[in-house]
Amino acid sequence: MRKITIAIDGYSSCGKSTLAKALASHLHYTYADSGAMYRCITLYALRKGVIKDGSFLPEEIIKLLPEIKLSFEFNPATKSSDTFLNGENVEKDIRLMIVSENVSRVSAIHEGRVHMIAIQRELGKNRGIVMDGRDIGSNVFPDAELKIFMTSDIEIRTQRRYDECISKGQHVSYGDVKLNLIHRDYEDTHRKENPLVQAKDAVVLDNSDLTREQQLEFVVNLVHDLRIPQD
Ligand code: C5P
Repeated sequence: MRKITIAIDGYSSCGKSTLAKALASHLHYTYADSGAMYRCITLYALRKGVIKDGSFLPEEIIKLLPEIKLSFEFNPATKSSDTFLNGENVEKDIRLMIVSENVSRVSAIHEGRVHMIAIQRELGKNRGIVMDGRDIGSNVFPDAELKIFMTSDIEIRTQRRYDECISKGQHVSYGDVKLNLIHRDYEDTHRKENPLVQAKDAVVLDNSDLTREQQLEFVVNLVHDLRIPQD
């Protein structure tokens, strides 16, 4: 079957990356986590002391962009790709709460978005990719053959992210996780540039009451329904 582009967008902690990884593995496609890229800029700015006490000057972050080199490597243990920042595996550090608390404001910086979107389009230029994020179907790959817009109940999303943080040994409270999700959703849907919006041609997937297997089955059926011709 000819390879296609699949965009999965939606609110924070809806399980986009879990579904995207499973789908990519099922189809033997590349998986790309665009949120990880914005998290890398944020982590780098935090380490450089440019973000202090939750505030920063966008110009200072823009100056750091040329120093940031991103790469992705398949990790056989997790069967997923790990994110590398200047050669260091930062897969764990980019998921820290301090990064989550600052990433939405960092991702609203125009120059940072231009830089990241160029990398995302390069990754997807040969198709055969599942990319998840906020603006993938609406902006990065407007011609993607399949666009999914994911949503889920806020309590379910909070519990998922809370469990994930705890399993990674992070000290977080349920309330803080919930506030962070609400805050990020607000920032991501209200920013001027490439906000989180449902693309006109996206299929909505509310996974509040669906298992991982049911979600995968739903999307695999959508791929089959596209009747993509053989090469
Ligand atoms: O997907 P994840 O929660 O890791 O994304 C972290 C943040 O990166 C989002 O809250 C959003 O601010 C930003 N992001 C974005 N555009 C994307 C993907 C993520 O602005 N395509």
